[in-house]
Amino acid sequence: MAGKLNGKVALITGASAGIGEACARALAAEGANLVLTARRDERLEALAAELRQLGVEVAFVAGDARDEETARRTVQAATDSFGRLDILINNAGAGNYKNLVDTSADEYDELMDTNMRTTFLFTRHAVPVMQSQKSGTILMLSSMAGVYGFAGEAVYCATKFAQVGFAQALDKELRPDGIKVGAICPGGVKTEFALGKGRTEDKVAQSGMLEPEDVAGAVLLACTQSANSRIIEIQMRTMDEALT
Ligand code: NAP
Repeated sequence: MAGKLNGKVALITGASAGIGEACARALAAEGANLVLTARRDERLEALAAELRQLGVEVAFVAGDARDEETARRTVQAATDSFGRLDILINNAGAGNYKNLVDTSADEYDELMDTNMRTTFLFTRHAVPVMQSQKSGTILMLSSMAGVYGFAGEAVYCATKFAQVGFAQALDKELRPDGIKVGAICPGGVKTEFALGKGRTEDKVAQSGMLEPEDVAGAVLLACTQSANSRIIEIQMRTMDEALT
């Protein structure tokens, strides 16, 4: 199979559902070998079996992305299985839409840890591998909530703005090493995200939100730039939605 990512190795966090799963399919379709991670290992196993049918190699590591050991083991799986790591998609994340006065400190910690600490940990362990290769692409799956503030989403917005700031700073820090860092910022996407925490299955199904495959297309675009070009940020909305 001749694909745009033949010979490349991509690590995707939160690959058991939604956008991460769609990214895995999109990158595998272009020939990338994959390392997948999330907590639900039966889903990772099923996805890995499906993607191997495309002729790519797939490793997976089940674990909580908030634990540093999961990040360490998953990056190690890339180097052990494939001897390199070309692409990191920091996608694992969660939402919990609440007004500030209804939000507990524990809920703040859970969102910040799931969205930002995981991003830090996986990037922290992936970057030395990419620095030694003098190449790599790192993408943060942020959100339009990482670009604009929205009522009822203050803590979620804070976690997503944090990812954008992290990406902008690392772009400056890592570009001299040949590493491209960018943020993908979609509006609402039809996934399991925030179900029971501000979203319901019915409302998501009836909404005109983006499909996970739309976002995977943007991720693929950012992963397939020419050697001289890097995508710093992509903002996405459906044609039905105003910008904010
Ligand atoms: P999703 O369908 O709920 O999937 C979330 C993924 O993250 C799952 O694979 C889940 O796997 C993983 N995950 C969550 N907590 C984890 C943890 N502690 N350890 C390991 N894995 C964890 O959500 P999605 O819509 O695809 O969201 C993916 C990313 O896109 C998130 O960062 C989200 O903020 C962002 N985003 C979503 C939307 C939207 O409207 N859906 C819009 C813009 C941006 P396990 O449960 O198996 O661990």
